[in-house]
Amino acid sequence: MDSETSTDIRANLERVQAVIAAACRRAGRSPDGVLLIAVSKTMPAERVKAAVEAGAAALGENRVQEAKDKIEALGHPVPWHLIGHLQTNKAKDAVQLFDCIQSVDRLDLAKEINRRAEAAGRTVDALVEVNLGEEAQKGGARPDEVKALLDAIAGLGRVRVRGLMAIPPASADPEATRPHFRRLRELRDLAGLEHLSMGMSADYAVAVEEGATIVRVGTAIFGPRAPRAGP
Ligand SMILES: *Cc1c(COP(=O)(O)O)cnc(C)c1O
Repeated sequence: MDSETSTDIRANLERVQAVIAAACRRAGRSPDGVLLIAVSKTMPAERVKAAVEAGAAALGENRVQEAKDKIEALGHPVPWHLIGHLQTNKAKDAVQLFDCIQSVDRLDLAKEINRRAEAAGRTVDALVEVNLGEEAQKGGARPDEVKALLDAIAGLGRVRVRGLMAIPPASADPEATRPHFRRLRELRDLAGLEHLSMGMSADYAVAVEEGATIVRVGTAIFGPRAPRAGP
């Protein structure tokens, strides 16, 4: 790949890391407590490789098939997180490919991940996705369903829930998202879990102020995504 692009990725990554460090200082937190996931969906493998070489600590993809091609090409130099909706019939591939599945939002999916993990002889780290805005077009468990879902998943030996994840309703103003981040944190605290995956390019600084331990940043690292063909 041309070196200009990889220089951009490196500069962008360093800028995002600096914004996270500043938000941590405001919140009295250590930057070591925030995992920055470089969201590489739609980006070709060579750009993903450049991000890893620039120091990306983890990668995020939202489609199993697209991720499979990149993971086969690049291996696991850093952990790969699945951050998009997972169909039950793709659980087998997801278990084989990903280090963490952030989009567990229903018991039948958790059971299928558990079954596939058992067959593969591994345990899968997972986050439970919460649909904070209760938006019909989005995945995620309803906030009032989270406790029951966590209790049921706790009975599955091969799925280890590490925390909660959410994609709050889109807004042009990151401050408008702050109450959603607070609500996710409250749900996480009630559940006694460690991780809080929240914050994207437009609002990750606010998310870190509100306690995010994982932020998922695509555009601010890789630049704008070309629109995809198809659904
Ligand atoms: C695409 C995506 C992101 C990153 O979005 P940006 O606005 O490009 O930072 C984060 N989380 C999820 C679930 C995504 O699908």
